[in-house]
Amino acid sequence: MVNLLRNGSLVILLGVGLFMACMSQTVLANNARLTTQHISGPVYAIIGEMGNRSAENLGNNANFGFIVGDTGVVLIDSGAGTQAAKAIEAEVGQTTSLPITTVINTGGQDHRWLGNAYFAQQGARIIASSAAVADHDERAGDQIQGLTGATGQNPMQNLEPVTADITFDQTYTLNHAGLEIHISHQGGAHTPGDSWVYIPALKILFTGDIAYGDRMLGVIEVSNSQSWVEVFETMAQLPAQQVIPGHGAVSTLPKLSEQTYSYLVHLRQGVGEFLDNDGDLVDIRTVDQSAFSHLLNYEGIAPGNALRVFQQMEWE
Ligand SMILES: [Zn+2]
Repeated sequence: MVNLLRNGSLVILLGVGLFMACMSQTVLANNARLTTQHISGPVYAIIGEMGNRSAENLGNNANFGFIVGDTGVVLIDSGAGTQAAKAIEAEVGQTTSLPITTVINTGGQDHRWLGNAYFAQQGARIIASSAAVADHDERAGDQIQGLTGATGQNPMQNLEPVTADITFDQTYTLNHAGLEIHISHQGGAHTPGDSWVYIPALKILFTGDIAYGDRMLGVIEVSNSQSWVEVFETMAQLPAQQVIPGHGAVSTLPKLSEQTYSYLVHLRQGVGEFLDNDGDLVDIRTVDQSAFSHLLNYEGIAPGNALRVFQQMEWE
């Protein structure tokens, strides 16, 4: 009701032209370039674009998931803000009319959690590792600023960022849709609070940003490449059959191992040798990553990855 009133006064204040602009934006927001894929039983993946954040994808350039229960839906990751959350809600709405009652945040990136505020307003409970919540608190301002630049609008609209009300240190089990849903945080990876979500009865794994498929992963300032390798090794022991990576097509653990784990190991080895040879930071581009040049976004992301691994390994 509040939203309707607000939209109504907007129209009167700003005129038909802007109203038309808002309408066309709403149409885009309703798909935000997302595609739903049925995985098995009540479990679905929402596959987002693999390129950068944009006005069209609203920052939802990542994968999400949902599990339909008897009375409500568990959503895996809430999207990069309020509009982005509504786009995910609309996507879920094509499969079920049940409300989203629980949200899991698998990590600290904007598209994993900035939609929390919208779902919390609808009464959903939100679950994340304590390490993820600390990261959310730390980086919310920077993320909102970055998204505003990338999408051309404030991602939060009129809401304040909301972090999880249910937190855990290492593991949390949720019973939903007759299934046990295991959430596991085993250390920092792409972000300090990354978790995977595993459904043992169906052997389905949502990796969050611990695994990237088809595209080059990003080592960002808060990434811990050493711990990421170890976390991946632990995750790879799961007997998962269908794996939804944080980015990229639905896959398998062996394939994601090649695209994420092997890359991280290769990069750390290359940078380690570079450091052993007293390499200077200005020459960091000479670290050879070409074995992974087939991955999307390689050109744009690979040099920065080497730089940040260098900065971390200097202190190891
Ligand atoms: Zn991501």
